[in-house]
Amino acid sequence: MSVKSLEGIVLYKSILKGRNISAQLLLRNGQKVSILFYGGIGGGKKGKGGIVELGQMLNVTLKEKKNNRNDVFEAKEWSLVWYSKLIRQNHNAFYLLCFFLEVTSLTSTQFTHLDDSENISTFNLLSNTIFYLDKSLEKEHFSKEFFLLTYLGRLLQTTGIFPDIEHCLYCQSESVKNVCSFEIENGGFVCDKCSSSVKNDFIIINLLNYSQKSLKEMYQNLEDSQFPFKNIEYSIKQIFNYFLYQFHIEQAKIKSSIFVL
Ligand SMILES: [Zn+2]
Repeated sequence: MSVKSLEGIVLYKSILKGRNISAQLLLRNGQKVSILFYGGIGGGKKGKGGIVELGQMLNVTLKEKKNNRNDVFEAKEWSLVWYSKLIRQNHNAFYLLCFFLEVTSLTSTQFTHLDDSENISTFNLLSNTIFYLDKSLEKEHFSKEFFLLTYLGRLLQTTGIFPDIEHCLYCQSESVKNVCSFEIENGGFVCDKCSSSVKNDFIIINLLNYSQKSLKEMYQNLEDSQFPFKNIEYSIKQIFNYFLYQFHIEQAKIKSSIFVL
């Protein structure tokens, strides 16, 4: 069955010779696909504006393929489904957007076929985060820490690497909620009896626990000025380091991470 059209969020784009763009889109089924947009920069004879921009949701009608390869498609026509009015105007929010797109690109699978919906949560995670990021700018509640925490916490859930925040890794005791250290290499929290160097990492447990709420509920806290955490940069960095370790990714591979963490 040949694919005639696709809908997805632009994860990556690079400008090719002329006015052409090569872009990667995240589809609703959680898979990423590469598409060539001839004349994608806009302007030219048709005078069309360029809409292939990072974080924008596009609907793309494809040119018929001469072969059956699913690695690169060519766009025939494309239109904008959704875009953020405000993220581009705020450089902190824009770096965050780039960070979410880069992480999504690294953790999503390549396109195979259209009707596979097993990774719908990958799409929902990204699209909901961008939606609320835009809303927070509109209502002037933007908080970098809030979006990093809610995104990374839910990322650990959708990718299946959320650590046990109830028990000590070694003795299974529940005392980790009071005093513990986060052992990233071993994938969990360790109580004071089992660890020689106990740090006050229980704040990370509190953060991860909080991130299990629905995004809507957490966002309401932000709007009501009731987001319960402050000075959490170090803890968020540790959650990010845990993600990197579990996925065997070097931080340098996520270029925007130095601007947000
Ligand atoms: Zn223990």
